[in-house]
Amino acid sequence: MRSAPIVAVDGPAGAGKSTVARRLAARLGFTYVDSGAMYRTVGLAARRLGLDPADEAAMNRLMTDLGRLVLRTEGERTRVWLDSEEVSDAIRTPEAGEWASRVSRSPAVREGLKGFQRRMGEAGGVVMEGRDIGTVIFPDAEFKFFLTASLEVRARRRHAEWAEKGGESALEKTVEQIEKRDYNDRSRCLAPLSVPPGAVTVDTSGLTVDEVVDLLFRRVKAEPPGGRAG
Ligand code: C5P
Repeated sequence: MRSAPIVAVDGPAGAGKSTVARRLAARLGFTYVDSGAMYRTVGLAARRLGLDPADEAAMNRLMTDLGRLVLRTEGERTRVWLDSEEVSDAIRTPEAGEWASRVSRSPAVREGLKGFQRRMGEAGGVVMEGRDIGTVIFPDAEFKFFLTASLEVRARRRHAEWAEKGGESALEKTVEQIEKRDYNDRSRCLAPLSVPPGAVTVDTSGLTVDEVVDLLFRRVKAEPPGGRAG
């Protein structure tokens, strides 16, 4: 028996998962776990070593030798270390997102990160965000949400986030990158992005972050819309 529930938040790139999941966790007093940051870190490591994500033997070795991965939530951001190096910024570029998507097809990578994610969440009291949390990592999660939004809205959000960090790219390029990532994530054989059975789907296109957080919070607390119990 878990002492506190597991909340799984899945969905495609740019659906608003990270901000929503982080704020939901803070409001519930739960730990926030960003599983995408783990795939991004493995992707970064593979790119630096010049490895081919389709070479399964190389991915196996990479996971064996990866080193210590540490994630810490500080305010609105997740800080990540690989051994003693902080990679928090390096994993947030659009290229790192593409590499994350490429290594995420590897069975060795998925298996390695699955164990890590389960250990981080099994005691409960977590909001874990990703693509396969409600389907593969914690199919028995007490609460499952699937966030989605139109392609245009998702591309605009990612584009704005990247611009805020001083990054430059054309909106059309972001649309292309997101479409490609969606295709990769939905079409892969292992743990493809899909709506988990029993999940509540929320289209965030016309909603503010606070509205989405509120909606999820009320579900978890079983509060009626518009009123707060206890
Ligand atoms: O959520 P984020 O954009 O950081 O994820 C980067 C990539 O990592 C995704 O596009 C996906 O390919 C992969 N990923 C995954 N399973 C997860 C989380 C992320 O395959 N649970």
